[in-house]
Amino acid sequence: MTDPAVDGPMAASGSAAAERSATASVPKQLRIGPSWRDASAATGLAVEDPSTGETLAEVADATPTDGLAALLAAHHSQASWALTAPRVRGEILRRAYERITADSARLALLITLEMGKPLADSLWEVGYAADFFRWYAEEAVRTDGAYATAPAGGGRVLTMRQPVGPCLLITPWNLPLAMATRKIGAALAAGCTAILKPAEQTPLTALALTEILLDCGVPEGVLNTVTTSDPGPLVAAVMADPRLRKVSFTGSTDVGRILIAQSASQVLRVSMELGGNAPFLVFADADVAAAVEGAVLAKMRTNGEACTAANRLYIARDIADEFTERLTARLAGMRVGRGTEPGVETGPLIDAAARGHVDRLVRDAERRGARVATGGHTMPRAGHFFEPTLLAGVPADALMLREEIFGPVAPLITFDDEADVVTAANDTQYGLAAYIYTRDLGRALRVAEQLEAGMVALNQGTVANSSAPFGGIKHSGYGREGGREGIGDYLAIKYVAISLPD
Ligand code: NAD
Repeated sequence: MTDPAVDGPMAASGSAAAERSATASVPKQLRIGPSWRDASAATGLAVEDPSTGETLAEVADATPTDGLAALLAAHHSQASWALTAPRVRGEILRRAYERITADSARLALLITLEMGKPLADSLWEVGYAADFFRWYAEEAVRTDGAYATAPAGGGRVLTMRQPVGPCLLITPWNLPLAMATRKIGAALAAGCTAILKPAEQTPLTALALTEILLDCGVPEGVLNTVTTSDPGPLVAAVMADPRLRKVSFTGSTDVGRILIAQSASQVLRVSMELGGNAPFLVFADADVAAAVEGAVLAKMRTNGEACTAANRLYIARDIADEFTERLTARLAGMRVGRGTEPGVETGPLIDAAARGHVDRLVRDAERRGARVATGGHTMPRAGHFFEPTLLAGVPADALMLREEIFGPVAPLITFDDEADVVTAANDTQYGLAAYIYTRDLGRALRVAEQLEAGMVALNQGTVANSSAPFGGIKHSGYGREGGREGIGDYLAIKYVAISLPD
């Protein structure tokens, strides 16, 4: 999973000294208003290395009281940040883009240590994350409005877009840097202040990012970061407070549903980036070698723990044997290990529960008749490792075709007919990403139009691009991040009715 844009000269060091220095470099307190401060609870939040089970560090464990203090700080800074010139806001984000890029080795190491994925994947994430700041630095100066003559004459219609107000940004552990920059970049560019609530498994990356943003000139109170082991009560308290105006959430559909319900009491603006169950369609006319490499990327990047991960591989019968053979060889040859070790291509799952979930799905598919082409088992070593796995002939009733696998397991299904495979691909509650491999342009566009997904990748194994609108439909959520659309989620439209008699 290498990317020429970020690999090579930037290679991060995984030595024990570099690891200690990376974790030691991160602030361990909450950032609220003008200062770093301890949480009001006496206990700390331990951060675990998923490849060893050992504790890497302990950070502050915020309570609902701390969450409300962060909201108060965001509320107090809102008016002045909204009045800060868009160019100034953009230049802060641009500086942060440059700082993150220059600091990519340390940041990648932090991601790998607390999340587990290989350094090459973490370096890719750092590049992707930084790019959201570059993009939103450019978008900050383009929050335009409109001026029109009323159709009946005698008046004018002026529309403007203004920041919605303080935002709560809740991020997952699988891309701890990019999911944070994707939200913070849009919020700050739009003129909103923010409270960042990172996942409990990966607070170090969020704290390092917060420090970078402050160094780059984000004024006090504009970004507040609260790490907590118990997100439910803290988030509920902040969302019940009328000073909050928006919540942006990336995570599971189950938690998303809870937050949508909670958002009703204060009628909050809501953006939801939720789970996925991406189909990966390879037609008989496709370049099979390219499709296999695309499948490896779409399935295995971030250890398979990605919302856009290919969850179901539908392969045309004519090329199924060749595709299976090639993908089996690729997965069987992948080096599994601690993400910091040189050459490792896939790391551990985030925790024991995640590995148990993957194991249950594999056992279920086997019981229903799937054949294990490679892998299929947890690995007998410390950490939460599962073998890169390919299952062939997975029957339609297998649970893994309905649920997010969130691990290095690829279920393969053969198909004969275009209409049937589109129907099968759409037979899911989710609608985030989908992948198509074909050389037939007509088919590519026809199928892309028919797939129920917010994003479709054509002849490539990734949809990640800061300049494109990322998001889903159905139970994968609503709202868009990135692209020209992303900043709109943080802006409210105001219309001014102007009397101007002719
Ligand atoms: P999760 O839903 O368990 O946690 C996500 C965030 O929500 C974390 O910050 C967590 O602390 C917080 N949280 C958990 N319970 C909460 C509650 N009751 N109230 C308020 N906050 C709560 O998800 P996860 O396991 O961290 O991440 C994996 C999920 O995220 C997958 O379903 C994946 O598909 C999804 N995801 C989606 C996207 C996307 O852009 N659509 C991107 C990455 C991950």
